[in-house]
Amino acid sequence: MKIAVVGMGVSGSYLSNQLSGNSGSGAHQVTSFERYPKKKYQCVCAWGTSKHYISRYAEKCGLNFDQYILHEGGRMLVSIGGTEVEAPLCGLVTFDKHRFLHDMQRGQKIRFGSFIRSEEDLNGRYDLIIDATGLRTLLPRIQQREVMIPCVQYTVKYQDPPFDDFYVEILEDMSGYLWYFPLGNGRAHVGAGDLNHGHQAILQRFFDRYGGEKEEFGGKPVRICPPRYCQPFRLGKVVGVGESIGTVFPLLGEGIIPTLQCSDLLLSHLDDLDRYCSEVLSQFSFYGTAYNFLEPLLRGEINLLDHASLSLAVLMHMRANETRYGFRMGLSGLSIEPLSFINQMMRTANKVRI
Ligand SMILES: Cc1cc2nc3c(=O)[nH]c(=O)nc-3n(C[C@H](O)[C@H](O)[C@H](O)COP(=O)(O)OP(=O)(O)OC[C@H]3O[C@@H](n4cnc5c(N)ncnc54)[C@H](O)[C@@H]3O)c2cc1C
Repeated sequence: MKIAVVGMGVSGSYLSNQLSGNSGSGAHQVTSFERYPKKKYQCVCAWGTSKHYISRYAEKCGLNFDQYILHEGGRMLVSIGGTEVEAPLCGLVTFDKHRFLHDMQRGQKIRFGSFIRSEEDLNGRYDLIIDATGLRTLLPRIQQREVMIPCVQYTVKYQDPPFDDFYVEILEDMSGYLWYFPLGNGRAHVGAGDLNHGHQAILQRFFDRYGGEKEEFGGKPVRICPPRYCQPFRLGKVVGVGESIGTVFPLLGEGIIPTLQCSDLLLSHLDDLDRYCSEVLSQFSFYGTAYNFLEPLLRGEINLLDHASLSLAVLMHMRANETRYGFRMGLSGLSIEPLSFINQMMRTANKVRI
């Protein structure tokens, strides 16, 4: 098949690598398009992921993930409503995502500096067009329940880093969080995202308190509404993948691994795209549950009775998938104890209705 991959983020880079001959779905004629010129190519992301899980995707591209790790976490300090809790980590790392994507892209036919606005821009030259733009530029806009959290992030250099491991501060109204992800050699990604647009202010307070030399800046919203609200996944010759169709874990804004999982589903069902769409809905159905839990929190409203079962479902899911997310929930006195965490969230939210 002649395939166009639009967008060279994690899903586009992985798919272009695999479709060109590294996957069981056979070699296709693949041309990829990226809106940024090569020298200005920027992937705005905190570069955090679970090393156990991502390694399998690296291997499929002939890469050794360990070589991209910048910092391996031991503990994450979480500040919520003035209380600090610690989560022991099990595989959460930061990695050099730029170099990782660059190495996946090696040997591929990529047209950097090509902003593709619609299917027509590609002049009917392809049998299949993959929208890996994150923004779903080639698919219809989401009409209802679209939620995108605005985020900004700096790469900061410290003489004396304020934290030696991962640090996260949950905003008082629960509508977002600030992150400090160490990158090694005194550098860190420091960023924040907030549905209520308070992220710039919380970041400024952080910089006023801890200083640091800002080196790079980037901003981008992250889509957190789950696949069930991001339909259609296909239109004409276009099929969506990754953040374009909502494969971001809503509670964390974590999209690297889910986007790779979604890309693998597309590779497995390239000859049956209806099946691909139903598999995405089925395999990411839990993201709908997590979103239903999160939505009232973002609005500052929690109804304990309504949300007790959802809270439990979310926490049990995360507890059962510790290596997937890279941190432990409730296994020791130092960890995030689910019930005390919920209790803290309840007290932090603006309006608690019981
Ligand atoms: C500030 C921030 C921090 C984050 N931190 C983390 C984290 O630590 N861990 C984690 O797991 N997830 C994180 N995420 C989420 C994660 O980065 C994304 O969900 C994931 O990268 C989505 O991958 P994707 O390939 O679907 O899209 P993207 O990574 O968004 O890639 C899309 C690509 O398409 C290109 N493009 C867009 N439109 C066009 C067009 N019209 N024509 C051509 N090219 C186009 C873009 O330039 C980009 O290169 C973060 C997100 C943000 C915003």
